[in-house]
Amino acid sequence: MSMYHTKSVTELSAMLQAGEVSSVELTQYFLQRIASSDEKLNSFISVCADQAMAQAEASDKLLAAGNAPVLTGVPIAHKDIFCTEGVKTSCASKMLDNFISPYDATVVKNMRKAGIVMLGKTNMDEFAMGSSNETSYYGAVKNPWNLEAVPGGSSGGSAAAVGARLAPAATGTDTGGSIRQPAAFCGITGLKPTYGRVSRFGMIAFASSLDQAGPMAQSASDCALLLNAMAGFDEKDSTSIEKEVPDYSADLNKPLDGLRIGLPKEYFAHSEGGIDARVEASIQTALEQYKAMGAELIEIELPNSNLSVPVYYVVAPAECSANLSRFDGVRYGYRCEDPEDLNDLYTRSRGEAFGTEVQRRIMVGTYALSSGYYDAYYLKAQKLRHLISDDFKKAYEKVDVIMAPVTPETAFNIGEKTDDPISMYLSDIFTIAVNLAGIPAMSIPVGFVNNDSGKNMPVGLQIMGNYFDEAKLLNVAHQYQQQTDWHRQMPEEFK
Ligand code: GLN
Repeated sequence: MSMYHTKSVTELSAMLQAGEVSSVELTQYFLQRIASSDEKLNSFISVCADQAMAQAEASDKLLAAGNAPVLTGVPIAHKDIFCTEGVKTSCASKMLDNFISPYDATVVKNMRKAGIVMLGKTNMDEFAMGSSNETSYYGAVKNPWNLEAVPGGSSGGSAAAVGARLAPAATGTDTGGSIRQPAAFCGITGLKPTYGRVSRFGMIAFASSLDQAGPMAQSASDCALLLNAMAGFDEKDSTSIEKEVPDYSADLNKPLDGLRIGLPKEYFAHSEGGIDARVEASIQTALEQYKAMGAELIEIELPNSNLSVPVYYVVAPAECSANLSRFDGVRYGYRCEDPEDLNDLYTRSRGEAFGTEVQRRIMVGTYALSSGYYDAYYLKAQKLRHLISDDFKKAYEKVDVIMAPVTPETAFNIGEKTDDPISMYLSDIFTIAVNLAGIPAMSIPVGFVNNDSGKNMPVGLQIMGNYFDEAKLLNVAHQYQQQTDWHRQMPEEFK
């Protein structure tokens, strides 16, 4: 029996190029896996079998003609935050349940150009606001390692689908941790690039100064291939950066001799709730492995780390309140029935179609931006944001990369934190500073912890880099993955 789901993107693309498998065969195989297993996970909002098969057939023609780009015919899934022409783009909200985009997001377009086949659109937290995928209008997503646990969020559908091998890879977006945290919870590899490295055009905006798209896959080498296709300047996004895209696969095999790894003391002995000792032990074992590979471990300080959650929860809601004002029941999306007047149309359309968390953020953000409070909250948060970035800049004068946990604990259970937004917000305590600074960071699987529910749950190591050091991060991650097989582990139910 073919076991294509055990193969990485790197392996599948080699098989396609060598003619050992066709894109039609592969695409059918993964569509079949989604059809038979996604009931357990709820990781997809839309599956687009017909379009996928048509793309696969076209890919096979290209492959047969020779000289097809390296990713030709590889099927993947897109987070439902990316606009896809002709296929529903809901952002997991009732607001956009009826929205069919007339165009593709640049990420989707770039990947299509690179030959990628789209299997479907993955579930997520509504408008990417959340850390557990429980705020989705389409229902919670389950963690493939324990169906009672959350997959993380907001890219929880992408992480669960890749973790369960229903898709070889997926796209995600990360505003405060939404690629790294679900990647850690589901035992996969995820990369949040430098702000501006990947175009945000056609990616539904949450907090525009923080949002960034990136790949979620089994391995660093897969992420390198995918980032090659995703990254690049886009004249349609004024914050995308006009800087050459290196070949991210080129440096994967560089030895790590002399690599200086910074360990921020604030991320290990954290005061607010701390870090699960079992998670920390897994991280320490991974760090020892890096030492054995020739790296040097250096304790560093990021003294303003404790500000990142409060700063984020002013900046992100403020920007979301502005971005989400376009969903007004007039231009597109949901409209309430029989509005009495314009005001009723606005308030009922928004009140009926936005979920609780989205409404909470809009209210917090509107408050923080209102005159009289702007200086006290928004302006202050922007100033503190500089301090957080400066901490990283100083650190990178002494070290090449920074390592830390991704999350203080492994995946928590569905329903465990839904009544307590603050405890939910604190699950991003180790990921948020990266977005505020705009630097790139990865999450790679480094072991399992037998957690309180008696299940073996994956642990993620976070590797943060200086601006535009994606190639270095991928190299550092790949070297570890050459020596370990955590990234190869699959959940029992989905083998
Ligand atoms: N969990 C964070 C939030 O709720 C981050 C979400 C994200 O990165 N999109 O805002």
